[in-house]
Amino acid sequence: MKRTTREVRIGTVTIGAGHPIAVQSMAATRTQDIDATLRQVQLLEEAGADVIRIAIDNPKDVAALAEIRKSTTANLVIDLQENYKLAEKVAPFVQKLRYNPGHLYHLEREKNVREKVAYLVAVARDNGNAMRIGVNAGSVDPDKVSQYSHGDSISPMIDSALEHCAMLDDLNFDQYVVSLKDSDPNKVIDANIRFAEARPDVPLHLGVTEAGMPPDGIIKTRIAFEQLITRAIGDTIRVSLTLPFERKGDEITVGRQILDDIATGRFRSVPRFEHKGLNIISCPSCSRVENEAFIELTQNVKEMTQYAKEHDITIAVMGCRVNGPGETDDADLGMWCAPSYVNLKRGEESLGQFTYDEILGRVRTELDRLIEEKKTVA
Ligand code: SF4
Repeated sequence: MKRTTREVRIGTVTIGAGHPIAVQSMAATRTQDIDATLRQVQLLEEAGADVIRIAIDNPKDVAALAEIRKSTTANLVIDLQENYKLAEKVAPFVQKLRYNPGHLYHLEREKNVREKVAYLVAVARDNGNAMRIGVNAGSVDPDKVSQYSHGDSISPMIDSALEHCAMLDDLNFDQYVVSLKDSDPNKVIDANIRFAEARPDVPLHLGVTEAGMPPDGIIKTRIAFEQLITRAIGDTIRVSLTLPFERKGDEITVGRQILDDIATGRFRSVPRFEHKGLNIISCPSCSRVENEAFIELTQNVKEMTQYAKEHDITIAVMGCRVNGPGETDDADLGMWCAPSYVNLKRGEESLGQFTYDEILGRVRTELDRLIEEKKTVA
């Protein structure tokens, strides 16, 4: 099936229409650690990345980005989280800006969202940047969430994306793409199919967020991409895996492998994600990780919980407080990292903060409790 989306240019790469699907990833290092971030950019370029994302939170990150730009010609995209006002400072150094509609509420509450979007579009236009409207299941516009029943997490995401597309259309800006990400591949499939039906012209950036460690993270991503790309949905992809810094290039290698398999008809034989049993999700880490022990913690949680692999339980491990609190809400047990402690939640209820030495023991206790409770209910 042929893609019917319009073209969007991101530096030297053009996506949409009949162009090859671009593969991208994100630097996981602290942006202010210029050497480490440049090394990561280089690793990703060597692995064949078309576009590389870097997170920016403050003026020091902007200064670091200016230095990084001097040493690389890579197509860079900046992730503007809450701090959307940094756009005008970073735009001259990059090819694309990403904003999350759910994060535009945090800063300057007195201003309406439409004004903030108009500002972002003006910055992008002045600097020749493309834009991504990046909607994430864990941080959806609260107004949209309140309009739907608790069980429907997809409709608010689509509504939010469509609303922002309309704002950009009204501003006569067409160099934008949309992403609708969730850690559940089935929801990624449904959200993207529904969006593509409503806006077949808008290029889509595909990704399963917090897919976790290989091999599970690869399987979840592969299933979503197979279902979507065979329907001609998806113009650029990002594989999000929890990996040590020096293996970050694997995200690109895996992405290209999946695309290659789909193009040559090699499919995993599961049409939907029918996984039962223990599900560990973890974020791919980025410059916001609050303690580098995060990767080891994720690995330890995975090993320690193996005894529970038959139980239908989801455990989420996140690297920071930016997305951690929201993204863990749907998990049975959720953790997110702070500099010297780990926050633990059970569903939406906080169980407190634990040191990196204490946390595994407490997770084990809570997991045992959950298993017992599920037996009682059954
Ligand atoms: S949860 Fe935090 S550390 Fe992990 S990828 Fe998201 S922003 Fe980065």
